[in-house]
Amino acid sequence: MGTTKMAEFSGVVVYRRDYRERDMLVKILTDHYGFKMFFVRGARKRGFKLAAAILPFTSATFIGTINDSGLSFISAVKEVNQFQAICNDIVLNAYASYVLGLGEAAFGDAVPLNSWYAKLVHVLKAIDNGIDAAILTNIVEIQMLGFFGVKPNLVNCVVCAESQGTFDFSQSLGGLLCQKHWHVDPLRMHLNRRTIFFLRKFSAVDILKIGNIKIKDDTKKDLRAALDQIYNNEVGVNIKAKHFIDEMKTWPKEILRNSQDTQTKD
Ligand SMILES: [Zn+2]
Repeated sequence: MGTTKMAEFSGVVVYRRDYRERDMLVKILTDHYGFKMFFVRGARKRGFKLAAAILPFTSATFIGTINDSGLSFISAVKEVNQFQAICNDIVLNAYASYVLGLGEAAFGDAVPLNSWYAKLVHVLKAIDNGIDAAILTNIVEIQMLGFFGVKPNLVNCVVCAESQGTFDFSQSLGGLLCQKHWHVDPLRMHLNRRTIFFLRKFSAVDILKIGNIKIKDDTKKDLRAALDQIYNNEVGVNIKAKHFIDEMKTWPKEILRNSQDTQTKD
């Protein structure tokens, strides 16, 4: 039997779906209980008093009943804030959804995220404040690899421990290869210097201290491709928002530019 307790907790609404005629199920990333599904009675009725607090990408302090198995309940909210830019911009929305999706895939349901709660909330704030969402996403992807059983050595050569010089990355050996040892893996990824530089940097950066980051578009493409290769071959999570991000590559530039303009005007 699970236990039930009243609790006050911070959280961010991840997504929701209609349930029965008048109700909703709302997935919230919470500070102490991880990703939890809440049953919100009457949420689809007009004039529902907690309507603003259960919109996706809303952060709030919630008061409710936590069941450690099964659905939990919300009875009141305070300090409701929306991540406005993320809500208004489909591109930012896709990155933010993917980042939360990765968190959910890594931790599962009802498992406390510990330090990762603050990290994910910081990433959402940073995306909302206009810091490059693609780069923030890459940083989360790299630092979350360990949760998926992939722990690449990005510190030094996996064969000889050399930490200076030119490197490539080997998926089969799980990390960096110095130039002397490129021959060890004929299928090494052939990443360029700049991509390796940022992969190493991203794996070591303190997410809570990320400020503005500027990286050339070409390098961003290379980083995206490298992480796609690692995630597709070694992680294999299936997150809807990621498919959307993949499709964005094929959009005309004008759409993406307009999306970014709207964001800076706010
Ligand atoms: Zn080596």
